[in-house]
Amino acid sequence: GTALVGGGTGFIGSHLCNALKSQGYGVTVISRMPGPQRMTWNDLNRVGLPEGTTAVINLAGQNVLDMKQRWNAGFKQNVFNSRVNTTSSLAKAISNAQNKPSVFVSISGVGIYKADKVREYDEASVEPEFDFFSRLCHEWEKAAKLPKGPTRQVTIRSGVVLGRNGGMIKQLYLPFFCGLGGPVMPGDQYLPWIHIEDLTGLILFALKNDKVEGTLNGVAPQNVTNKEFSDAFAKALRRPAFFPVPKFVLNVLLSEERANMLTEGQKVLPKRTMSLGFQYKYPDIASACQQVVTKE
Ligand code: NDP
Repeated sequence: GTALVGGGTGFIGSHLCNALKSQGYGVTVISRMPGPQRMTWNDLNRVGLPEGTTAVINLAGQNVLDMKQRWNAGFKQNVFNSRVNTTSSLAKAISNAQNKPSVFVSISGVGIYKADKVREYDEASVEPEFDFFSRLCHEWEKAAKLPKGPTRQVTIRSGVVLGRNGGMIKQLYLPFFCGLGGPVMPGDQYLPWIHIEDLTGLILFALKNDKVEGTLNGVAPQNVTNKEFSDAFAKALRRPAFFPVPKFVLNVLLSEERANMLTEGQKVLPKRTMSLGFQYKYPDIASACQQVVTKE
């Protein structure tokens, strides 16, 4: 097949493109920067899908936890538009295409579920919008909806993605390596997570299986708290995890709305993902952290 990957230059996107290529897919990336094997979002809006596209995946989005960016109205708009507008451009290009791809996979976040220490969420849980991130997830998922047709539509609500080269681990690696790591307080908040190979594996699973459609939680089956994650990561690095990060520090650095992504959490179960038969490579936090610290 031939895949078109929005945000294919990013942490998840580049990992996915490598996996697609190693499975024999042709890959075109959509990026803000033109280049070989690439198109820009303007190209997409102007000319539509490349001829012969069989699968479309969107992994674009301005990095939310960028500490250099102040959490103001302008940046929030970038965070929102970079996800929702790219997704709706792809949905539109699919519905305008003569020859439609067989599948469209887009991502969303577990921020659609309200943080809670006892409630358990699966894909069927419906939460009305309650903050910026939940509104973003609702609009993001809405933007991916297609009119009835031959293209299967799959939305993956991803937890924090664990991998050596990006996302949260990239920010935590140095402090933990130096023995300065520790949990984000209070520590007993859930941290929904998935290993990068399982997330890209789940996207490939969605591409290849005709019965996969609709919403899937992209989280590992083992639920852990922030403290349990921090202990597992430190242990994999053979370091202590003595230095808790107080909530007020993150509230100051990131501003409270954004800091809540780390200081609060949801217990998310991958119920549909598992019932469809997806097999995890890293179902538990110990094996995932071990892989993350292993040099390839
Ligand atoms: P990255 O920041 O690594 O990459 C995202 C890509 O999005 C970039 O390579 C960039 O491509 C593109 N992008 C960035 N800003 C903009 C913008 N303003 N407008 C258009 N495109 C933009 O992100 P990840 O790979 O970590 O995440 C990919 C998606 O998955 C995001 O939407 C994210 O919210 C979501 N997700 C990620 C999780 C994680 O833990 N990493 C967890 C849950 C969801 P280019 O520069 O080529 O245009």
